[in-house]
Amino acid sequence: MKDRELSRFENSGGDRIYRIPLDIFPGMHGYAHLVITKDLLVLFDVGSGFGDSNEQLEAGLEQINVEFKENAGWDRITHILISHAHIDHYGGLHYVRERTSAPIGIHELDRRVLTNYEERLEVIEPRFRAFLLESGVPESKTEELVTLYLLHKMLFSSIEVDFSFEALGMRLNGLEFVHVPGHCSGQVVARVGDILLSADHILEQTSPHMAPESLSLNTGLEHYLASLQKVAPLTKQVRLALGGHEGPIEDPEARIEAIIAVHRERLNQILDLLDTPATIYEVSQELFPETEVYHQILAVEETAAHFEYLYSRGFVELTNLDDIEVGGDTPRKYVRRQIEESVMPALKGGSD
Ligand SMILES: [Zn+2]
Ligand SMILES: [Zn+2]
Repeated sequence: MKDRELSRFENSGGDRIYRIPLDIFPGMHGYAHLVITKDLLVLFDVGSGFGDSNEQLEAGLEQINVEFKENAGWDRITHILISHAHIDHYGGLHYVRERTSAPIGIHELDRRVLTNYEERLEVIEPRFRAFLLESGVPESKTEELVTLYLLHKMLFSSIEVDFSFEALGMRLNGLEFVHVPGHCSGQVVARVGDILLSADHILEQTSPHMAPESLSLNTGLEHYLASLQKVAPLTKQVRLALGGHEGPIEDPEARIEAIIAVHRERLNQILDLLDTPATIYEVSQELFPETEVYHQILAVEETAAHFEYLYSRGFVELTNLDDIEVGGDTPRKYVRRQIEESVMPALKGGSD
């Protein structure tokens, strides 16, 4: 498959961007990007560190030297940049740190994930369990999902970060960073001339995964949609976007419209399903009839992010308020509120 080969891109200023394909987790592919400008050699994301990911990163750098005649050894790298604190993008950091002393940078809102990794796991476990129970996931299934969630997150240990994008003024010579919270709190995209490294903010085929902000501040659909609007003007300056997964995006502006349409449709689908009361879990099973356990976690989070958006705007309401005890984890049942056609752009047809 062509997408699984190392590929080279050049922007109008002559900077080169190499996409290094990585097998991140079983069945999941992604990329690290190496950006070479006049004065910088930047590694943008480092893969998961899991399975063959590190070796593939190493082999990619080697191939860039041999096949494309660059001088891209570990000792030449000037900066390690992490697009956002999801493990498929930063998990390889310890491997990379042993090979280069180049400073590591990330957005301030994601820094703590890397520097206080163990602390964060402790904090998130009870919150995640309560979230699943409130969403209506049965208790035995909840324990299974929590165990899997923690297992997945056990693959890393804290590491020091050297700088934040803010500290650089959101700029590093020719690279311009834009903070686009939503998919992740500290998600950034980077513009390198007329090429945009869109990380997991804009992907070619999938609408990037969404979790509710109730689990993690500065995530959720509200922020995500606002961040798509924020990036839209940038697409006028770029002719190509390269995401953290999937193929190159030839028309980023059209892709943004398509992603908004996916969310609009999903919100409407949920409203239709909520003609009769249901929990987030029940609706998630309708929307994503998944059997694979990890995907069930993603399905509940994705559905919950949309519920949160609808709830905060008064499109849905709780039906079992009397059952919900203060501080308890009672499954919450929601139903659609019969209100006038909304004025919310995400729920309206068309883009006006
Ligand atoms: Zn991500
Ligand atoms: Zn990713």
